[in-house]
Amino acid sequence: MTQVESDNFAEGVKPHVFPREEAAPETKPTQAPAAISTGDGPLAIISDIHANLEALTEVLAEIDRQGIKKIVCLGDVVGYGPNPLECIDLVMTRCEFSLMGNHDFAIFFEPYNFNQAAENAAYWTRTQFENDTDRERRNKRWRYLGTMPTRMNNHRFVCFHGSPRRPINEYVFPDDIYTAPQKMAAIFDRFERLCFVGHTHVPGVFVPDPDFYAPEEVNNRYTISSERAMINVGSVGQPRDRNPKASFAILHDDSVEFVRVAYDVQATVDKVRAIDALDNFLGARLLDGR
Ligand code: ZN
Repeated sequence: MTQVESDNFAEGVKPHVFPREEAAPETKPTQAPAAISTGDGPLAIISDIHANLEALTEVLAEIDRQGIKKIVCLGDVVGYGPNPLECIDLVMTRCEFSLMGNHDFAIFFEPYNFNQAAENAAYWTRTQFENDTDRERRNKRWRYLGTMPTRMNNHRFVCFHGSPRRPINEYVFPDDIYTAPQKMAAIFDRFERLCFVGHTHVPGVFVPDPDFYAPEEVNNRYTISSERAMINVGSVGQPRDRNPKASFAILHDDSVEFVRVAYDVQATVDKVRAIDALDNFLGARLLDGR
């Protein structure tokens, strides 16, 4: 990564090179590569904040209340929601790193496979990034967004926004265990022990049978064994499992805990409603978490 000379992000920032899946293991992350050592206590894993400041604030408060010192983010810091700048600033300050999600990609590069509401939100978000008159702050955000890694790993786990096959864009849904067993097998072939993902906004545990356990089926705590597991931590800012509370996970020594946190959903809904470029549905869906 070279230093940014210009304040024009398109010219000044060298974009991260997105490897084909064969090349992925050699990818050199540009943010804090050694920062996810978990030898010193529990690790909070958050994902899919989607510019929802009320949800992120409550999740960070819960993490602090529990005395957890390290946080990592699996991407989609922005997109859909009304507070992209505040959310990326908090993630830059509080997280060891953030992976690149498809919405982060959309802001920095281009929206890919987005519906109209998501695309409109992406362009509005880009405008917010561009309109900050503080050049240094603006460059810092662009640089952070443009250098988000697509995978991270340590001795305990590997993590992606979408999946080990297609880190940014592949959805792995609970139904895939029935409808796409070959897809599940191909995904489980690509990691050794423990894998964390986000992207679908549906928390739970995939095992190689294949099978899927929603958090309530494991009493919100999955015990780590020698069996491989791919764990979706759910979404902080736009849960879609019919539970409107913000979702995240905590990696302990021998288990993964699923946590839900209540926040002022109506405040976020009202903010979305007040911004013309954001479809009201993007707020309204938060009320019932779907
Ligand atoms: Zn997302």
